[in-house]
Amino acid sequence: MHLVLIMYGEDDALSPMFSNESYIDRKYRLELFDSCMYAPKLKRFNPAKPIYELDCPFCGAPKSHLVWMPHKRTWKFLCSTKNRRNCQSQMEFPILLKTWCPELFLSYQWERFDVGTTGAGFNCP
Ligand SMILES: [Zn+2]
Repeated sequence: MHLVLIMYGEDDALSPMFSNESYIDRKYRLELFDSCMYAPKLKRFNPAKPIYELDCPFCGAPKSHLVWMPHKRTWKFLCSTKNRRNCQSQMEFPILLKTWCPELFLSYQWERFDVGTTGAGFNCP
């Protein structure tokens, strides 16, 4: 319990915890957000289906979204669809992490492996 409290730490006010997000996903999502030039904004504060708005890390398109998918218990990244020149990327959180920040993905993958949520039947290779 003590460990959990440390992990959820001081930024809870800025970055609410969503009921079904795993602590590993949350930890790496916050690390990714920290690397952004403009911090992603919580567009819809609904703990059941939150949406973050951010610049696409691949093509820079503003108003791209990170959408929580409750049935899959993961985030899906969607490049902005407002402009045809946008890269139109769509991917779930582990692949987003892998593409955006390969070094961070390696330690994420290791933590997922450690708790037994990689490979067949999971969204992390
Ligand atoms: Zn894009």
